[in-house]
Amino acid sequence: MIVSKKKPIEELMAMLGGVKKVALVGCKSCASACAVGGEKECNEMKEYLESQGIEVVGIVLPDESCHKMLVRKDLKAVMALQPEAIVSMACGSGCQTVAENCKVPVYPANNTVFVGQTERVGIFHEMCRTCGDCVLGETGGICPITKCAKCLVNGPCGGQKGGKCEVDPNNDCAWILIYNKLKELGKLDKMVKTQDDKDNSTHLWPMSVNTREVKK
Ligand code: SF4
Ligand code: SF4
Repeated sequence: MIVSKKKPIEELMAMLGGVKKVALVGCKSCASACAVGGEKECNEMKEYLESQGIEVVGIVLPDESCHKMLVRKDLKAVMALQPEAIVSMACGSGCQTVAENCKVPVYPANNTVFVGQTERVGIFHEMCRTCGDCVLGETGGICPITKCAKCLVNGPCGGQKGGKCEVDPNNDCAWILIYNKLKELGKLDKMVKTQDDKDNSTHLWPMSVNTREVKK
């Protein structure tokens, strides 16, 4: 799940400047689940923009706003209505996919915040920072890069108090979670194993994956 939050509306309005005619592109996938880019949020945005004197010529909701072919197909209908700009109600990837496939400016209504786990409807937790060099096999399936405020991969900083992180006491110390999990798994030997330096060459931006090449 790609988790996004709404940008403050003033930021979007500042980006739109003097634009008077827009189309909205939402997303039926993650952005709908996060309640930032589904049908309801798009209709609310339409109502707001129109109250500010901006005409909304159309709304489209691709099944996935980050899917190039779906976006190309769905954009045709709204582009025919000649909007001056598009407001993307999806994540950063969705917004860029729309921008790549139209010839008017595209403005993001949301901030994309993390790759998350869905606890239940509307509740998400950050789980992975897409480091490209996964260490979960050594840490009991708990990501030290995401769950430790200092991204420490070789044990704790020592600042925890009562099992809570010294940086944000609302969070458990990731390394205590990792220790307890490894203990439960009978794998405490992993606690004393030093992790190799992260191989940052596996994660040079921007990345692409082509599963068709892999299958050859
Ligand atoms: S180590 Fe953490 S940030 Fe890196 S890929 Fe694995 S879960 Fe994601
Ligand atoms: S207290 Fe724990 S989670 Fe917080 S920064 Fe230190 S090791 Fe990381």
